[in-house]
Amino acid sequence: MTPLQALQKYFGYSEFRHEQEAIIQQVLNGRDVMALMPTGGGKSLCYQLPAVLLNGLTIVISPLIALMKDQVDSLNVAGIPAAFINSAQSPDEQRVIVQKLRDNQIRLLYLAPERLFGSENKLVDFLKSLPVVQIAIDEAHCISHWGHDFRPEYLMLAGLKVHFPKIPVIALTATADKLTQKDILEKLNLHQPAVYVASFNRANITYRVMPKNKSFNQLLAFLQDRKDDSGIIYCLSRKSTEALAADLRDEGFSASAYHAGLDTALKAKNQEAFLRDEVKIMVATIAFGMGINKSNVRYVVHIDLPKNIEGYYQETGRAGRDGLPSDAMLYYSPGDAVKLKSFVALENNEEQSRIMLEKLNDMVSYSELHTCRRKFLLNYFDEPAGDHCGSCDICLSEFKKFDGTLVAQKALSAVTRLGQRFGSTYVVDFLRGSKSEKIREEHKQLKTYGIGADVSKVQWQRYLREIIAFGYLQVTDDAYPVIKLTAKSEAVLKGLQKVELTEAQIIEEQVTETPYF
Ligand code: ADP
Ligand code: ZN
Repeated sequence: MTPLQALQKYFGYSEFRHEQEAIIQQVLNGRDVMALMPTGGGKSLCYQLPAVLLNGLTIVISPLIALMKDQVDSLNVAGIPAAFINSAQSPDEQRVIVQKLRDNQIRLLYLAPERLFGSENKLVDFLKSLPVVQIAIDEAHCISHWGHDFRPEYLMLAGLKVHFPKIPVIALTATADKLTQKDILEKLNLHQPAVYVASFNRANITYRVMPKNKSFNQLLAFLQDRKDDSGIIYCLSRKSTEALAADLRDEGFSASAYHAGLDTALKAKNQEAFLRDEVKIMVATIAFGMGINKSNVRYVVHIDLPKNIEGYYQETGRAGRDGLPSDAMLYYSPGDAVKLKSFVALENNEEQSRIMLEKLNDMVSYSELHTCRRKFLLNYFDEPAGDHCGSCDICLSEFKKFDGTLVAQKALSAVTRLGQRFGSTYVVDFLRGSKSEKIREEHKQLKTYGIGADVSKVQWQRYLREIIAFGYLQVTDDAYPVIKLTAKSEAVLKGLQKVELTEAQIIEEQVTETPYF
């Protein structure tokens, strides 16, 4: 049977998506693979199809015991013998599966990493006696501290290549940032892996950010004409998920809560109700969603600022898996960023804090963008994108543009006068003619000092970001990033290039406490 025939026979699909076919071919050839695809991209098929074609056992490592049953059930329905072993099973149930494995009656075996390597490697030693043909590692970013969902038990997977040196390993994830990628490859010891990165663009999702102000009212307005739709609302704290779900129910909405602190039975019940469309709105912490395959989620709302772009993108990606138009809405308050920053410093060592703060700053930049949000997101994952996607709030142009050539010229002159050796804070203070002692005396003598005093600090920061996004200035990658000119700067300085900027929309810091933080 060819891969295409198997696709049609077992999965009922007529053609492969994205890089699926190439990935499958590599696995069939015995090569290690790392596949990065967005949520809903079709990762499972990349190991399920080889499992059908290869004569032997595929081990699937998955972090979520709760979801194994669903996956195994649907494989069995499709006529592909599959099973899982987990701690929820009785010894008798496990014995039945072990016997089937011995009799070569199972094609895919789902396990959590701690099960594989627990009890002094008892299971791994047993599996080595079987004809294992493929090892798939789902949610492979869980092995990395830099992923947004680090799970220490994933580190045990470093032992896989020791126990199964000849068996192709396929690592799959929807997290694509470079640092995490590198970490996955290193920690798993993949041998000359073929790396596939599918496009991360989710064209059917419209991205929006709104200044957060009385978030409950904003939410009610958002939900007004979405009463019959399924959606997920992400909150930062466990407590606020329950409070918000209750408040929404009071307003007549069908809402349920989900967070890691709920007892297992209740979590399963709430999740099930949402999957079956019995409950429309899931108010959850980020504990909810990984691996959940619900195609008709019409919107994902972030009522609090996510900690990083990776998490945000993954969470928004749970909307619109069926390809129909869907919304991602983020309510942004700079105060959220300040709170998150203080958590980061408390919870991590110095190096981790530094990286997490950088990631948080990227999230802030995204929230304050005046250029296409999709472009920012795709570029963040090193994917090229056009300047205007036509389906984010910026491109749908809820912001007014103005001729910002003079503003840009002022910024560029300041950077030039300062010898291209200072970061944005210094440049802005200099432009505004700050009396601060931090501004060197010699700089206070320069003619450009204070030429931008009419623009507020926050506005200047936004203009700078926009000017940088257009490539008229750049920021270095150093530990202390400085702003420099680019090849495109000269034309602006000489007045040959017009610069269109976005009128700064000032996001008012909230004075009153929001109920849902
Ligand atoms: P993820 O990458 O998030 O793990 P899944 O493997 O769950 O995504 O796939 C998402 C959905 O796309 C599933 O419903 C799956 O059956 C479907 N799918 C996967 N491959 C194809 C294909 N080649 N053609 C059509 N649908 C597909
Ligand atoms: Zn856009």
